[in-house]
Amino acid sequence: AKARGKDTYIQFEQSMAEATTFRLTMESDLRNALDREQFFLTYQPQVDAATNRIIGAEALLRWHHPVRGVVSPVEFIPVLEGMGLIVKVGEWTLRAACRAVRDWMDRGLWTDSMVLGINVSPQQFSQPEFFDQVRQAIDDAGIPARCIDLEITEGMVINEVEETIIRMNQIREFGVTFSIDDFGTGYSSLSYLKRLPLDVLKVDQSFVRDLSTDSNDAAIVETILAMARHLKLETIAEGVELEEQLEFLKSKGCNRYQGYYFSPPLRVEEFEALLKNHQHI
Ligand code: C2E
Ligand code: CA
Ligand code: CA
Ligand code: CA
Repeated sequence: AKARGKDTYIQFEQSMAEATTFRLTMESDLRNALDREQFFLTYQPQVDAATNRIIGAEALLRWHHPVRGVVSPVEFIPVLEGMGLIVKVGEWTLRAACRAVRDWMDRGLWTDSMVLGINVSPQQFSQPEFFDQVRQAIDDAGIPARCIDLEITEGMVINEVEETIIRMNQIREFGVTFSIDDFGTGYSSLSYLKRLPLDVLKVDQSFVRDLSTDSNDAAIVETILAMARHLKLETIAEGVELEEQLEFLKSKGCNRYQGYYFSPPLRVEEFEALLKNHQHI
């Protein structure tokens, strides 16, 4: 038993060392990824319940690693955040997303009533120059500010509520809207939600997943939707995969959807083909 304990420990040490090496390699790879143009955006359509029309999309970042292939943001965003590099990559994302909208507008694929959601990490948002970055990206692309929605998370709000409200209002005056992402998974209190100048609430996919089997999740979703209605927020349900989920959400007054039921995130050419062929899904 002793010997096995020792073996286990050695294995543990080895896997710790491997994990560290893995992380260090990833960090050095990420340091070059922007210059090497290894990042790209995918686009997941968002659909209106009443008309089944595409009303916008969410831009989702991907990293094309030369050896590992396409790496998930779940894996590399936390590393970028740890390195402080998320600020630069976030700015690249903003600019790339705005340029894409410009291009789609030029080609008649996008109207000024369609909205592209862009994820903003807390570190990025807390930079004093964030507003200027947003304004610059939009102005340089020459697109209406209302075509851009910034997705923030509850984690962002915790510390500097007053400061957050001031900054959000500045950006909103410029014409950009704000969504609260992954709603219900953070630890912010409902009173924050009431005070924040938000436009859209995104119902987290963890509540949507088991809607048809878990009555607690169904109750939570129903409550979130009712609350959003009272606060006059638009709602988008994320992670909709099944007809049953869609029907439930519809019956509780959710008006917009995003999920594999309609479409996964698409590469730009695929997304453009979708916009071209049918504004309906
Ligand atoms: P998120 O903002 O909550 O994005 C939604 C995630 O759910 C996406 O994962 C999307 O592919 C996935 N998804 C969409 N529909 C379904 C569905 O029906 N079922 C399931 N199971 N999943 C679905 P993805 O693209 O892997 O992104 C993961 C997270 O990485 C995002 O979660 C977001 O937090 C972060 N992220 C992605 N792009 C960016 C970015 O440009 N900047 C920042 N700061 N974070 C980003
Ligand atoms: Ca998001
Ligand atoms: Ca989300
Ligand atoms: Ca999420």
